[in-house]
Amino acid sequence: MPHIALKDVTKEYPAPQRGHAPTVAVDRVSLEIEKGDVFGIIGYSGAGKSTLVRLINALEPATAGSIEIDGTDITRLSAARQRQMRTGIGMIFQRFNLLSSRSVRRNVEYPLEVAGMGKAERRRKALELLDFVGLADKAGAFPEQLSGGQQQRVGIARALAADPPILLADEATSALDPETTDEVLDLLAKVNRDLGVTIVVITHEMEVIARIATKVAVMDRGQVVEAGETYSVFTNP
Ligand code: ADP
Ligand code: ADP
Repeated sequence: MPHIALKDVTKEYPAPQRGHAPTVAVDRVSLEIEKGDVFGIIGYSGAGKSTLVRLINALEPATAGSIEIDGTDITRLSAARQRQMRTGIGMIFQRFNLLSSRSVRRNVEYPLEVAGMGKAERRRKALELLDFVGLADKAGAFPEQLSGGQQQRVGIARALAADPPILLADEATSALDPETTDEVLDLLAKVNRDLGVTIVVITHEMEVIARIATKVAVMDRGQVVEAGETYSVFTNP
């Protein structure tokens, strides 16, 4: 059974005005992502990548189709069960989304605090994760004191706090320079290798896919126009 399976998933947004056609942001997409994959989704702006992420996270309802995670169709679950499934998916973002008024350690603790974990335990977990991402010495710093690459590493530590089996990276390196991008991608590769986390990388940058994704789906105007092993999709005959 695939880890994540999308079958004929469509997402339409209502027409902005009467008489206009609805926007088909995701158009009959089928994808299978296996446990342990680093799976890239690449496409130009407007291709439907972010919408696809929100669907996998059940942050938006699909118009049609099914989205199975370990065999459970999340589109058919109650809102409460969808929230529960979401704790199994870590997210990192282009803008890092750290809380500026909290220290690095307390940013990493945040999801654990929300989940009701006790102080000592979540502190231990946060420090362990900061060590894993190479920022043990920055636990007491505040986000604005860190470089962009360091902030994204904090974002990765936070995303891993609840031990999710899946990590979604949505344009996670788009705000970083090429060298820092490589460092963050190498860390994601380590997360995949050492922790066995399945990683879905959404990007408009070919270099990102080439560096870490073993499989890739190419999106254009809501559709997956090509998918397979990265080397076979992107090697010119
Ligand atoms: P990408 O992430 O690849 O840039 P998006 O998923 O953001 O693509 O957008 C796909 C299409 O859906 C675009 O035409 C966009 O304008 C439209 N769209 C995205 N979100 C919304 C929304 N909340 N309401 C209406 N249209 C949307
Ligand atoms: P506020 O309470 O100020 O409205 P939140 O504390 O809910 O804001 O969230 C602030 C930022 O932290 C948001 O950008 C959000 O994306 C991020 N965030 C909130 N909760 C989590 C979480 N459980 N895991 C990861 N990021 C989160």
